[in-house]
Amino acid sequence: MNAAHKAADLSALRQRAIDAARQAYAPYSNLSVGAALRSARGEVYAGCNVENGAYPIGGCAERGAIATAVQAEGKDFRLAAIAVAAFAVDGTPLPVSPCGACRQALVEFGADAQVTFLQADGSWIEVDAGALLPYRFILPEQ
Ligand SMILES: [Zn+2]
Repeated sequence: MNAAHKAADLSALRQRAIDAARQAYAPYSNLSVGAALRSARGEVYAGCNVENGAYPIGGCAERGAIATAVQAEGKDFRLAAIAVAAFAVDGTPLPVSPCGACRQALVEFGADAQVTFLQADGSWIEVDAGALLPYRFILPEQ
């Protein structure tokens, strides 16, 4: 994939993440998060945060998208890229990056995957998943 295609791909993923954030169930934090990922096969899957009155069982947008991708592609799913966007109730973009648990989930499926997330000024940060979690957990072989 050349640079122009890659940029267009990220642009489409970013829009899907913004769209997914509109579906968020976030009555407690009022932070609506959307994520859209592209698998190595080229398919796109989205997720949003889903909160719960029992706070710890709420789920993140990124891991929601990953669960959907694994359900569709099975154990061979590999992550190529993911975009994440978060908004306040009034639609103002809020600066977020994937949380620690999601970083671990991202590197499980693609340490070299592109990760892009929206900032408050409307710009997008781009980084490799592995760079977000350099000392990630790796299950030791026994
Ligand atoms: Zn998370």
